[in-house]
Amino acid sequence: MALSKRGLKSAPAATSVKPLALILFGSPGSGKGTQSKYLVKWLGIPQISTGDMLREHIRTGDSIGASVTDRMKAGSLVPDELVNQLVFERIHQPDCERGFILDGYPRTLAQAEEMMRVLKAEHAEGVVIHLVVDYNVIISRISGRRVCPKCGTLYNAVSRPPKVDGVCDLDGTALVVREDDKEEVVRQRLVQYERQTQPVIEFFRTSFSRSNGDRLVEVKANGDGPETIFERIKSELQDLVQG
Ligand code: AMP
Repeated sequence: MALSKRGLKSAPAATSVKPLALILFGSPGSGKGTQSKYLVKWLGIPQISTGDMLREHIRTGDSIGASVTDRMKAGSLVPDELVNQLVFERIHQPDCERGFILDGYPRTLAQAEEMMRVLKAEHAEGVVIHLVVDYNVIISRISGRRVCPKCGTLYNAVSRPPKVDGVCDLDGTALVVREDDKEEVVRQRLVQYERQTQPVIEFFRTSFSRSNGDRLVEVKANGDGPETIFERIKSELQDLVQG
């Protein structure tokens, strides 16, 4: 990729351009995690997944993990103050200097307001990518999802099957259904999404300042393979990387 005028990817860390806060927005199963990975590779900035951060706290068994286990198992959101704090600390690490990709945050109006405050203070440019997917597509995607409990690699019966059914390609461990991908939990997560997260999109529509470079782009993420969807995202964001 060509050297970016924004300082993304190959430019030195200290630049005078604004850091980029890329916010991937979409319901559970809309492909945020997959698209984040493509974007990390393309832009050379890190992915920040609040879901992954919380699962890591649970895995290590610390006090944060203990405080969120029940809510996560039930598919409920964890408290705003906690995720705000986790994200705030993470984006102040040196690898986020030129920008970062938020996956799964903000999810509530309180989180969105806090995020806008932080972006303003950091003079960052906010770009929201809304992945728009049908309810039925989401249910079928999530129900085919499997994870390796050892290395965390994600598989999908349709879009990314393992070489041997039910077994991790990398370490041979038997794949499992993630606790919060179980059907009743998925339903609960979708209800939460409708209730709490949809209004966040409305918030961005009204409060983003175009003069600051902030914008919201809607990308159809139904039916097509992940590469096709990524091409759509790239075409919306070309101006961020061409110098
Ligand atoms: P995810 O992997 O992004 O689907 O997140 C899995 C679970 O982590 C969610 O169902 C919530 O319980 C919790 N979680 C992740 N991100 C947030 C957030 N921004 N606010 C509140 N809870 C979150």
